[in-house]
Amino acid sequence: AVPVIAVDGPTASGKGTLAAELAERLGYHLLDSGALYRAAALAARAAGVALGDGAGVARVAAAMALRFQGQQVWLDGRDISDELRLETTGAMASQVSVHPAVRQALHDVQLSFARVPGLVADGRDMGTVVFPGAALKVFLTASADERAERRYKQLISKGISANIDSLRADIRARDERDMNRSAAPLKPAEDAVLLDNSQLGIEESVQRCLGWWHERR
Ligand code: C5P
Repeated sequence: AVPVIAVDGPTASGKGTLAAELAERLGYHLLDSGALYRAAALAARAAGVALGDGAGVARVAAAMALRFQGQQVWLDGRDISDELRLETTGAMASQVSVHPAVRQALHDVQLSFARVPGLVADGRDMGTVVFPGAALKVFLTASADERAERRYKQLISKGISANIDSLRADIRARDERDMNRSAAPLKPAEDAVLLDNSQLGIEESVQRCLGWWHERR
C-alpha cells in the first residue's frame, strides 16, 4: 500500500504549511483536501447552484475538471488560484462541506491522490474517513486566538487588509460548524498523535512529525 500521512486539524492551524513541508522533505505527493471543498463551492457558484443544495453541489463537484500545479489551481480551464484562498471562499467551502453527498462526491477524488512513493493529506477527516489506514495521523490543536493571530499576520504580510476580531469570529464559526456537523465531524482519529503547535515554529513541527514517521517505518 502507498504510505499516507494524514494531517488534520481546525481552520488556520498551520496544517497546510506543515503538510506541504512534509511532502517536500519526503518527496511525496500532497493533497490539500480543503482546496477541493473550496473549488466545489466556486464551481457551484459559477453554475448558479445554491450552496445549500447538497445534491446540486455534489453533481457539480463530481464533474469538476481540476488541475493542480505547484501553487496554481485551474477549475474547468479557469485559473482560480487567488480566488481559492479568499476567506469568503473558505466560508463557502465550510457551507458545502456539511452535505454528505458532497463529501461522498469528493471521496474518490481524494483517494486518487494516493500514488507512489507516498502521500501527505491535509484536511479535517483525512485520518478518520478518507485514509483510515494512514501510517501516521497528526492532529493539530492550536487555540482559536493563536490561529486568528497567525492568519492576521499572514494576510497583512501579503498586503491584504484584515480585521483580527472578524477573523477570530470567522474561525470560531467555522470550528463550530466543522465540529458539530453530522457528516464527518472534525475530531482526532483514535490513533492520531496530537500536536499543539501554538508555541512551535514550523521547523520544530516538521521535525516532530518526521520523528514520528521514522519511528513508524
Ligand atoms: O482547510 P480549508 O480552510 O481550506 O478548508 C475549507 C473548508 O472546507 C473547511 O472550513 C471545512 O469546512 C471544509 N473541509 C472539510 N473537510 C476537509 C477539508 C476541508 O470539511 N477534509
